[in-house]
Amino acid sequence: MSSRGYVHGADLTCDSCIRGVDTLCPNRKLFGASNTQQGSLGDHYVINAQFLHRIPDTLLLKHAAPLQCAGATVLSAIVNSGAQPWDRVGVVGLGGLGHLALQYLAKMGCDVVAFSGSDSKRDEALRLGAKEFVAAKDGGLEKLEKPVKYLFVSTSVQPDWDAYTSEKVMASRGTVVPLSVSPEPFKLKSYQSIISRELRIMGSVVASRPLHRQMIEFSARHGIQPIIEELPMTEEGVNEAADRLEKGDVRYRFVLVSSPRPPRPLDAVLTLIRLADQREAR
Ligand SMILES: [Zn+2]
Repeated sequence: MSSRGYVHGADLTCDSCIRGVDTLCPNRKLFGASNTQQGSLGDHYVINAQFLHRIPDTLLLKHAAPLQCAGATVLSAIVNSGAQPWDRVGVVGLGGLGHLALQYLAKMGCDVVAFSGSDSKRDEALRLGAKEFVAAKDGGLEKLEKPVKYLFVSTSVQPDWDAYTSEKVMASRGTVVPLSVSPEPFKLKSYQSIISRELRIMGSVVASRPLHRQMIEFSARHGIQPIIEELPMTEEGVNEAADRLEKGDVRYRFVLVSSPRPPRPLDAVLTLIRLADQREAR
């Protein structure tokens, strides 16, 4: 079985493509922005085979599906940030992206801190690989044992950047990677903390094809799995997913599962051609 990633096309000739970073190609084709008439809700799909990725048998398709976007996004951010196994790292937000970031960083061997609004997700964060959990509300950041060198921010709403770039949270020369897709401006009361401690704010967008394939292999090898809720790929299933997504009521990704479809006229024609070929071969 194969999958496509978030990037499903690029010119393959520009500097970014030649460097193997097709995610930054000026002519890239991204899910939701290009070829929108070909969504993911179908049982056939036309694509340049160079943008397909093989899914190993050890990875269940229902788990592989969310990894093609969320998994690729977080692992790409981790690799591009330069985080190493001996680093102390933080993940802000335990949602669709954050719960995967915790698993990747823990399997890499990092000292992982999970930051969440309240205490409610403490057990889950520790089970997914965090060594320390910080409930950030009401001055909780003050209780952090020591600052982190890399911080991956995966909340859907932007956090208090002044608090998260403070000396208490970020080590000098640390790197902050915002992953939230928020239309709001990036606000800091003072950027002196960025200058005086040489902090780096780094952008990251999904994974190039080489990194995407490493993400699939790494996930299969280490049993990294998204936590999912399955819904049927029917009108009702799609509507329920959309309604609950609006309320933020999902833990942590919906997977729409299609049932085997009834045979169609084209299938009957293909079967006849195949039978005719076999008879000829005999
Ligand atoms: Zn290109």
